[in-house]
Amino acid sequence: MTAFTAGQLIDLAYLVAVALFILALKWLSSPTSARRGVLSGEVAAALAVIATLYNPEVIQYKWILIALVVGTGAGIPLGMVHMTAVPQRTALSHAFGALSAAMIGIAEYYVRAPRLTPFAMTEIALEVIIGSLTFTGSLIAAGKLQEILPQRPITYRGQNFVSLSVLGAAVVMAVFLIVHPEYVHLFPAMVLVSLVFGVLLVTPIGGADMPTVISLLNSYAGFSAALLGFVLNIKVLVVAGALDGSSGFILSVIMCKAMNRSFTNVMFGAFGQMQTPAGSAAAERTVRSATAEEAAAILTAARTLVIVPGYGMAVAQAQHKVRELFDILTRKGVDVKFGIHPVAGRMPGHMNVLLAEADIPYDKLLDMESVNPEFPQTDVALVIGANDVTNPAARKDAGSPIYGMPILDVDKARTVMVIKRSLSPGFAGIDNELYYLEKTLMLFGDAKTAVGEIVRELAGGGH
Ligand code: NDP
Repeated sequence: MTAFTAGQLIDLAYLVAVALFILALKWLSSPTSARRGVLSGEVAAALAVIATLYNPEVIQYKWILIALVVGTGAGIPLGMVHMTAVPQRTALSHAFGALSAAMIGIAEYYVRAPRLTPFAMTEIALEVIIGSLTFTGSLIAAGKLQEILPQRPITYRGQNFVSLSVLGAAVVMAVFLIVHPEYVHLFPAMVLVSLVFGVLLVTPIGGADMPTVISLLNSYAGFSAALLGFVLNIKVLVVAGALDGSSGFILSVIMCKAMNRSFTNVMFGAFGQMQTPAGSAAAERTVRSATAEEAAAILTAARTLVIVPGYGMAVAQAQHKVRELFDILTRKGVDVKFGIHPVAGRMPGHMNVLLAEADIPYDKLLDMESVNPEFPQTDVALVIGANDVTNPAARKDAGSPIYGMPILDVDKARTVMVIKRSLSPGFAGIDNELYYLEKTLMLFGDAKTAVGEIVRELAGGGH
């Protein structure tokens, strides 16, 4: 039997890495197997990196080691951020990934410049344009989400025309370079214009749309890596980049559907402009507020309860208290389920991750399609820190910015209880008529504190 050559071993490692990347995506699609999915992706990435280090073309390790130390030093604190800061953290990761892809493309150009075939130059140009615009676009997205930059869309007349002209200029330069790769002074101009386009692309998009934009930028970063794989002739990069690119794109489409928005509307619609406040009409309406004691009594008397968590539960880190509430009510014989909206919170799967962290059984988490038909038969819908995803205006008010967005029909339950700190709007910046319905009881307070108080009341009283 002949031994494997180094090249064959590297290819074998790449093949295993690709299989693990595919399995990672498959496993990530269900909460029960998501942890395995993350592990599989990590092992695949490590395997691909180690195999690449064995490549005989790597002649010295000094710079790689320095990069490893710097990258690890920056990566560890980035991984420690609070769950609610994950969207901006993800945006930063995309920025770094895209920057590295663009810089490798730039290096390849200067190494090979005058002898580049039109095909190779096309790959490099595309990769550098996408990598550069994703870099600056992701930085702007991270800045908006961290509230370093204004969250509102920054727009002016003729903006789309200006932005598209800038992109057009980058493409024209790329085409020129494909024909004349020796025009080295044009290359930095193309990079610069692409960087500017990234800023112009994301600045007019409102904070509410940032997670969708990040998912789209993730997809761009993936495609840029795939193109880099072609440039460097590394197949694992082509496959991993294509998987990243296409899954990011599919996720963006799913998010747009969940918010009933078209891609064009997200990218060019400047959604999230400051809405006029709820106004005097809202001020005149009455709300019924309840105490924790009253809430506990109502919940104890209920046979069926659907808990609807939202962004406020994430901010308050109330998931463990919610778990206690689930346990105690289940013990008292109440049928407790959770209704999960696909865009509740600030990132896809946000609620699933938090509830899984608190060990709430997966079979109690119902998605929107499954739970909505149950609301008319539900005694109590308990909304914890959710707002937009329960707003009936999405069904009824054609003038509302969220009109057409599928919502959780909590208003169809017999009683609605809402835990939030005030009557302030959610991310879409609009009033919610749910709070003024006769069947709605408001429990004003921080989600963790309020749920904790209800649990205490329930623990003290009997059924
Ligand atoms: P919302 O942003 O609509 O509302 C959250 C509510 O939580 C606020 O009204 C706030 O009210 C309340 N809140 C904040 N802090 C606390 C606290 N400590 N305790 C209790 N309540 C608190 O959240 P939803 O989850 O209902 O909706 C998500 C929104 O984000 C949608 O508009 C969606 O389109 C958007 N979005 C989500 C994405 C995703 O992937 N998940 C992606 C893009 C956008 P108050 O200040 O009165 O307490």
